[in-house]
Amino acid sequence: MSTAARVVRCPNCGRKNRVPPTGRGRPDCGNCHSPLPWIADADDETFGEVAERATIPVVVDLWATWCGPCRMVSPALEKVATDLAGTIKLVKVDIDASPRLAQRFEVMAVPTLMVLDHGEILARQAGAANAPVLHNWITDALTRGSRPRTAAS
Ligand SMILES: [Zn+2]
Repeated sequence: MSTAARVVRCPNCGRKNRVPPTGRGRPDCGNCHSPLPWIADADDETFGEVAERATIPVVVDLWATWCGPCRMVSPALEKVATDLAGTIKLVKVDIDASPRLAQRFEVMAVPTLMVLDHGEILARQAGAANAPVLHNWITDALTRGSRPRTAAS
């Protein structure tokens, strides 16, 4: 089920940790207390709790099992989630298992990627990209999103 905890190997010390899909704050290693990559699955039922009510910014990967580019983007996103451990949470949504989310976000192409902060969409793009490009896209969105809004923007 989509609420199952994932086992994540600590990038710092190698210890395996169970990381639940929801919770306050950010997961850290039980051994060395380094931030752990936070990767969770969500669907129509769990998206609100896993993604929109997350306490840190969320990168949403709307993907499909039949989508070739998704198989390239998923490991790239997981690498970025590891590089940005403690800063973002990666939430993967299988659109065929989540028809309400696919409709709500008007997903026309997969993969569709979004950066969310407290449920607000900071950035969105469709199509594949490599890890360095995704890393820049995400950090850019977070920098812009944290800036105070002015009348001009
Ligand atoms: Zn560790």
